[in-house]
Amino acid sequence: MSSRGDGSRTALIVALLLVSLGATILLAWQAQYAVSLHRAAAESVVRDYAALAADEFIRRSAAKVGYEGYYPLIGALTRGLEATGDLGKSIPKPEELGPEDERLRAALPLVKRYFTSLPGSEALSFEGAAPPIEMRSWLSAQLKRPRDDTGPYSVLHGSVADEPVTAVVREWTDPSREKRAAAGFEVNLEALGAYLTPAIEERSLLPPSLGKGEVTNDAISVSLIDHGGVERLRSGPRDFPEFSVEASFGDAYGGVLEGSRVRLSVDPAAAPRLVIGGLPPSPLPMLGGLLLLTAAVVAAAIREIRRERRLQRLRTDFVANVSHELRTPLAQIRMFAETLLLGRVRSEEEAKRSLRIIDREVRRLSHLVENVLQFSRREDAVALNSLSWEPAPLAPRVEETIEMFQPLVADTGTRIVARLEPEAEAAFDPDALRQVLLNLLDNAAKYGPRRQEILVGIESSPGATRLFVEDQGPGIPEAERERVFDRFYRLPREGASPTAGTGIGLSVVRDLVTRHGGRTYVEAASTGGSRFVVELPAPRFEEPRG
Ligand code: ADP
Repeated sequence: MSSRGDGSRTALIVALLLVSLGATILLAWQAQYAVSLHRAAAESVVRDYAALAADEFIRRSAAKVGYEGYYPLIGALTRGLEATGDLGKSIPKPEELGPEDERLRAALPLVKRYFTSLPGSEALSFEGAAPPIEMRSWLSAQLKRPRDDTGPYSVLHGSVADEPVTAVVREWTDPSREKRAAAGFEVNLEALGAYLTPAIEERSLLPPSLGKGEVTNDAISVSLIDHGGVERLRSGPRDFPEFSVEASFGDAYGGVLEGSRVRLSVDPAAAPRLVIGGLPPSPLPMLGGLLLLTAAVVAAAIREIRRERRLQRLRTDFVANVSHELRTPLAQIRMFAETLLLGRVRSEEEAKRSLRIIDREVRRLSHLVENVLQFSRREDAVALNSLSWEPAPLAPRVEETIEMFQPLVADTGTRIVARLEPEAEAAFDPDALRQVLLNLLDNAAKYGPRRQEILVGIESSPGATRLFVEDQGPGIPEAERERVFDRFYRLPREGASPTAGTGIGLSVVRDLVTRHGGRTYVEAASTGGSRFVVELPAPRFEEPRG
């Protein structure tokens, strides 16, 4: 009944522990989810800032290429044309028109080569060496195409021999001859990167109001790709794909950079300056550790509960075993005492035998009671203090105890042989020593065969004195040699044997010996049985005072 109650209580505790583990898992999941949301929001902010920087890049480079680049160039050309008035002559180059114009000089790297097409003429003439035939035919074809734009210039994009090309052209019609003429230049796309770099580097692409102005272009990776897919500019650190945005120059600015794209990303290391708290680190390692810890605690608690239950069961068995052990000698005492009382003995000899049996059973009983008392006192510090240990020779005590034990095995034919070193000394409480030896002798007699020889010996070596008891019984399997000293532990084979026991004898032995600073162990005896050894520290030599 109570074990059923214990069982359901254990199940309840285990269930509660598992519920707490489940709750921890749920909380960990929640935390992970919250952090992932937070991270996604922070990443999106960083990407928005990258988009902002990309817009600024587009604005700045379009302005540089347009207002400071091809506008003044084409303007100077136009002025030159108007100045000469005669379109039949060659067109002056911009640098000839305004050599003192700083802006114009700065724009010159954008020009690859100048070209003109005279009114009425199909032919193009180039300044310096003529470009390859493919370029020439592309340009003529472009110029022939009717254009509806009425602006001061046109920008032509195309691809020649798989290379992107761009040209800026000013066209007009000669009013007198009503013939079209054109002049312009091919844009040096290779020089675009070097031309734009100073404008990009002059200050951060991010407005100073963001990140307290501390996020410089060193944290921004930029790549400019022209209308033909060729990268013309790269600056800043390597690309950070997870924070990368791509923006097109689109129609807003048109001109030379029409069809170009910019790919820009912000270094996540700059995130703490841009977003409060930066990018939260992944909580997985911490949560994983916490979960493992909780699981380990739950497992340890379940193991502890199971051990407690096992101990509880052992205690119940122990009470049953003690009662059983008490019952047998009591029954014997009662039977032989009654025989004597009722005068049923036939001879003097028989009366003596009855008294011997009563004496033996009383000794057994008192021994058992001694063990139980000692066992229940084991955690009692007062009991420890009550032990008095004076260094003394062991042999007389051992002989006395053997003598005391002898009657218990008198009718089994067991012989107890003592091999004692008379001068071996140890500091040991006499009563404790008697109980230790009685327990070992009792086990030797109990588990060994009838008519065996039990050897009790004392050996001394420097630093230690050993007391041992050897029997001719079945011995103890090597794997069990430590466990037999555990409280309530009995070898599994005892389950099927009629030999009664409580499982506390050896634990009392170990407890008493340990309190004296000694140790206990069991090994195989040369006779095949067990050899239990009690090793005591040799008494220290004390300097004579004075
Ligand atoms: P108990 O003898 O009351 O069962 P002990 O603590 O004295 O308890 O012994 C524990 C177990 O060790 C015994 O149940 C027995 O299985 C084993 N044991 C002890 N002494 C011997 C021995 N001399 N020979 C064989 N087995 C022994």
